[in-house]
Amino acid sequence: MSEMIENKGRSGAPGYALGRLFVYERGSYRPPHIRIKDTDIELERFESAKEAAIESLKEASERTGKRAGAANAEIFKAQQMILLDEDYNVRIGVNIVSGHMNAEWAVSEASRYFYERFSGMRDEGVRAKAMDIKDVANRLIRILTGTEFVFDIKEPVILAASYLSPSELVQIDSEMIKALVLLEGSAYSHVVILAKTIGIPVVLGVDVCSGSNGHEAVIDGNTGQVFIDPDDGLKDRYRSLIDEEKVHSLKLRDYIGRDAVTKSGRKVSVYANISGISGADMALENGCEGIGLTRTEFMFLDRKTMPSEEEHFNAYKDIVLKCSGKRVVFRTLDLGADKGFGEIEENPALGRRAIRICLTNSEIFIPQLKGLLRAAVYGDVAILYPMITSVDEMRCIADLLNEADDELTRAGVMHDSVKQGIMIETPAAAMISDELAHMADFFSIGTNDLTQFSLAIDRQNKDLARFYNPYHEGVLKMIALTIENAHKAGIEVTICGELAADLSITKRLIDMGVDALSVSPASILQLKELICSLD
Ligand code: PEP
Ligand code: MG
Repeated sequence: MSEMIENKGRSGAPGYALGRLFVYERGSYRPPHIRIKDTDIELERFESAKEAAIESLKEASERTGKRAGAANAEIFKAQQMILLDEDYNVRIGVNIVSGHMNAEWAVSEASRYFYERFSGMRDEGVRAKAMDIKDVANRLIRILTGTEFVFDIKEPVILAASYLSPSELVQIDSEMIKALVLLEGSAYSHVVILAKTIGIPVVLGVDVCSGSNGHEAVIDGNTGQVFIDPDDGLKDRYRSLIDEEKVHSLKLRDYIGRDAVTKSGRKVSVYANISGISGADMALENGCEGIGLTRTEFMFLDRKTMPSEEEHFNAYKDIVLKCSGKRVVFRTLDLGADKGFGEIEENPALGRRAIRICLTNSEIFIPQLKGLLRAAVYGDVAILYPMITSVDEMRCIADLLNEADDELTRAGVMHDSVKQGIMIETPAAAMISDELAHMADFFSIGTNDLTQFSLAIDRQNKDLARFYNPYHEGVLKMIALTIENAHKAGIEVTICGELAADLSITKRLIDMGVDALSVSPASILQLKELICSLD
């Protein structure tokens, strides 16, 4: 009998599994690189492969919609957009016409170029796009070379691979996968988000060698551990954890339609953080009371021109209609060089970002404000301003909001009033929250940035992760002060940073008097359960 081997990776999606490993090897398949003379034929081959890829993505989108909800089906719409992207197509075309490359080579070269650009970005969300590009390239090359993805297994396994694309994952019967162990990918990669929705535990950053194929393994998606050839004691321990988990996830569904109220009667609203319409579906499926934070950055990424008022309006209206009457909080643009937007700066987190861009570029801000005022006709819309540090900034915003309102009135376009919130995510804002409270209808505390700026630690620098401490008393005192000042002025406070989903601090936040917590859709039910169990 082999000795147990323990591998430590990172948690991708929670949950446990015990089963046999299936190590999926892609091999070192390299598409044929052929220097061609007849460029027209290769252009035609590429065009028809592209059409076939778009068709198969539509099918994948439908299949996913049925299995994992509309939110996850969006992944495949994003991939269709890559196939239609002008820069992507031009680069492939130039490779064929000027580089005399065959279509497979042209696709793999262009995809590598864009993959490297995205995978080098600091923002995890943008990096996740790199995996989409890889997925699209694989699909095109498989079509061009006539080689299909085959995953032929007869019983449920723990699937280990260097990487897996979302489309590969949905082609496999989810009953057949107990867990995923991937070498590449982040918690934000689409394949991981998809696995989480289907309920498959994922460990990232572990390379399982082909020699382990068929061996027994235990996967701990919570801690990121992979045990190969586990001993009997460990297997027993995980068998009971798996049983407990099954019972627990069924029980959690009871909280979908329930309010989060402590035993002593304190109600805490539980809202969702989303980044587009797809998140709204998942948030509603998990019983959110509203959307506490819509990160509108999705409107600005991957494009060369700024979104028009009409584009803003249509995107926000769709979300508002979907939420049928529930409060939807839209945060205005919060981008900067830290998220690959604008010119590179020395200290991007402290640079031209968020409200600073909006206040110096009204041609970016006003169309967004107008789009939001128009969307307000269709439901309960609130606007949230990020990175506020002063009363003056709020005065400038008020002037611009009036200007947006006046323009719509003069043009005879339907619009409505909105509630306005301030993000408290700089120490300065927390310290003057007594003054700011009179300039807004609510506060939303962004603990991710509040921690970063209070402790002077770059939140994106993984080498400093152990110093990034959101429980620091300095941060908690600022949260308490903000809540106290808000309540004195009669306004409510939501926490929308990651701390809101941290069950180890929920009791303390409620004791401080927080009115609402806004968390990712996947965290809603557990948070409600915990709140209902508190005294
Ligand atoms: C925060 O800073 O806590 C926050 C919610 O905003 P983001 O993470 O988008 O900066
Ligand atoms: Mg922030």
